[in-house]
Amino acid sequence: MPRNPVRYWDEEIETLDRRSLERLQTERIQATLQRASRSDLYRGLFAGRRIRPDRIRSPADLRSLPFTTKDDLRRAYPRGMLAVDQRRVVRMHASSGTTGQSTVIYHTARDIRHWTELVARSLVMSGATEADVFQNMMSYGLFTGGLGLHYGAERMGMMVIPAGGGNTSRQIQLMRDFATTIIHITPSYALHVADVIADQGLTPDDFKLRRLVFGAEPYSEATRSKLERCFRVTAYNCYGLSEMNGPGVAFECRQSEGMHVWEDNFVVEIIDPATGEPLPPGRKGEVVFTTLNREATPLIRYRTRDLAQIIEEPDCPCGRRMRRLSRILGRTDDMLIIRGVNVFPSQIEHVLMKIPEVGSNFQILLDRVESLDRMTVRVEICGKMFRGGVSELRALKGAIQHSLREEILVSSDVELLEPGTLPPSTGKAKRVIDNRAI
Ligand code: AMP
Ligand code: ZN
Repeated sequence: MPRNPVRYWDEEIETLDRRSLERLQTERIQATLQRASRSDLYRGLFAGRRIRPDRIRSPADLRSLPFTTKDDLRRAYPRGMLAVDQRRVVRMHASSGTTGQSTVIYHTARDIRHWTELVARSLVMSGATEADVFQNMMSYGLFTGGLGLHYGAERMGMMVIPAGGGNTSRQIQLMRDFATTIIHITPSYALHVADVIADQGLTPDDFKLRRLVFGAEPYSEATRSKLERCFRVTAYNCYGLSEMNGPGVAFECRQSEGMHVWEDNFVVEIIDPATGEPLPPGRKGEVVFTTLNREATPLIRYRTRDLAQIIEEPDCPCGRRMRRLSRILGRTDDMLIIRGVNVFPSQIEHVLMKIPEVGSNFQILLDRVESLDRMTVRVEICGKMFRGGVSELRALKGAIQHSLREEILVSSDVELLEPGTLPPSTGKAKRVIDNRAI
């Protein structure tokens, strides 16, 4: 017996040769196009084009089809993306940081089953077995990191502790009392948990932890190494987005050199974000996905705005044939991820500009304090509108904080400034100062 036997969840699919995989993808693209055209979203996007599923003879033929963007999904809110009778839907999810126009994805029972299989497959790839105890420290709810991993971990037979996010002392207690061996967590929260563990005078020997599964936000190799040292474990990168189910789109194998994309369920393309043209393997660009197995919300050539590259070597020593994606190297838009929640500076601007006492200049300052993201919104007040004293200032600050929290779902500090304090913009405004080292 080799010391580390390679284990597959679905060996036949995971090791499928490329020709057979492309044949399968082609069939599934055709079926996806049939389904998609039943939704208002694609009736609109395909209007005026003759989309002929039988003309798709290889995954490369997808290039003849239009992209789908986050704005298309927002416009289709709340039901335009639905491609089946609503009676067949068993669940919905939405992207994090949701506001009125969040992106909503529906799932049939079959969709959930497939997603669950992909997560189970991912976890087995990282070496997890049914003997493991899995503590899911991602928030449950509309966000996909909770239920998505939960179902997959249960499916492969692990004992799951649905701890959710936050409440760190209790998390640590659960990890000790139930001998947790794997935790699923955001890297920024893991840094905080590591600090609290150290503050409590505990060491890795007080735990049975063997693996960390990281996802939901960008982080650097340095952060990964630091956390691997703190917890004395191996960390695995888990990538996904709610538009593509959530976690379980791409996951690292034990080689830790890129994440295998489950290409039987998603076609991955890398495009030049400026021109939309496909880029060859090894070139960094925007990641675009097409769902291949989804009923309720099929998506075609969805532009993720995430930047990454396909790793050139086709075969991985782990035996899996599905191509690998590098870590996420950035984004094409200005979306910020604050404590795991997606926030656009435009949302903050929207809130501020509705408040008459707020002047025209503001700045968003991001720091990491004791491993947790902290946002400070620095706001110039409008001299003409504001004539109050200290107590009025305090009330104004409270009102701004409250409105921001309602809109973006994360709390922030607000600093009120005299008019003219912030550097005036002389061109494209630099609104965000991000001092968080990732
Ligand atoms: P959501 O749809 O709210 O779950 O957010 C998905 C976004 O989170 C992705 O488009 C990425 O920008 C980010 N994300 C998720 N997983 C990772 C990961 N492993 N590394 C870097 N960014 C990630
Ligand atoms: Zn591999």
